[in-house]
Amino acid sequence: MKTIHLSPFIEIVSSPPMTQEQVNQTRKLLDTPKDIVIIPHKNPDGDAMGSTLALYHYLKKKGHHPCVIAPNNYPKFLQWLPGNDSVVAYDAAAKVAKEKIEQAQLIFTLDFNDLSRTGDLQQHLEQATVPFIMIDHHQQPSAYATVTYSDATMSSTSEMVYHFMEALGDQAMVDATIGTCLYTGIMTDTGGSFRFPSTTATTHHVVSELIKAGVNNAGIHEQVYDNNRYSKLQLLGRALSNLKVVEKYKTSYITLSQKELDQHKFQKGDTEGFVNYGLSLEGVIFAVIFIENRSENIIKISFRSKGDFSVNEFARAHFNGGGHTNAAGGRSDLSLQKTTEHFLTLLSQYPELSL
Ligand code: 5GP
Ligand code: MN
Repeated sequence: MKTIHLSPFIEIVSSPPMTQEQVNQTRKLLDTPKDIVIIPHKNPDGDAMGSTLALYHYLKKKGHHPCVIAPNNYPKFLQWLPGNDSVVAYDAAAKVAKEKIEQAQLIFTLDFNDLSRTGDLQQHLEQATVPFIMIDHHQQPSAYATVTYSDATMSSTSEMVYHFMEALGDQAMVDATIGTCLYTGIMTDTGGSFRFPSTTATTHHVVSELIKAGVNNAGIHEQVYDNNRYSKLQLLGRALSNLKVVEKYKTSYITLSQKELDQHKFQKGDTEGFVNYGLSLEGVIFAVIFIENRSENIIKISFRSKGDFSVNEFARAHFNGGGHTNAAGGRSDLSLQKTTEHFLTLLSQYPELSL
């Protein structure tokens, strides 16, 4: 454990679980009702929204005035989450979001560990002088928070929010509403229903407690996974037709151009999980999807792997990204074709892919 002292707050970067010192400090920060903002990362996924909304309901129950401020909007398949209507999206309501951040007495950041992951919110967060609490499960956290609860072994930030409430002695406050948000985050961040190696006995214990608290688990699976539009399934068909395999490097990749997205009436979130089809191929240990985004003028990339090959390191080294050992993201400013060409030249640098 590394402890750095920074006036006026103590900077604590901990190894898991939450230390007693962190618990005490968090208690102190929460001992009177406060205006609190809770921030997920840009392009929030199930874990980002599940964890932030669970914390929102919990803090409200404790008498605080919380608000979730998302850098931008999130997919329809998450827009049923309890508390969805209270979320402020910066891209739709910048003024309200800015004011709330300026008024906040405490800021939680969840499911990311570097302020650059918050898009246009970054400038406002960097200007804030109030304490930050980070809850996150990605590797290599930046040191911006007063309390850094960081645990890269955790399945999801949502699982960590459960442990956070537990550490504060508030397990009994976990009800079906909080549980529904947490279950959604854990389910989606474990690779679509508890399949990644980060899913532990503790993860299943937490899930068991959530179901005991009244969570309708089957209903959540239906909300998230069985609400496909026909055009989305057609887009999946296109992605699968575009799938290429580089047998020599046990690698597969998919490309989707903006034109192909437009042809299939692309909506945010439609490509979620596509990359996993590449990884499901026999013998493949590294799968990638390149998705053109003309409005941002970038190629958004998702990386997935099996075993020890770290896509976090790969994304950091070559594509200005990061994430976890087996799931990471990044971006490229080159064209779609140039990006995949460049990607293919990198594979030979990784002998572990051809073992
Ligand atoms: P996805 O491929 O599903 O977008 O993201 C996979 C994982 O990598 C998630 O945990 C996500 O938070 C992280 N991630 C995605 N894109 C980026 C990025 O551009 N930078 C960093 N540091 N992490 C990312
Ligand atoms: Mn996550």
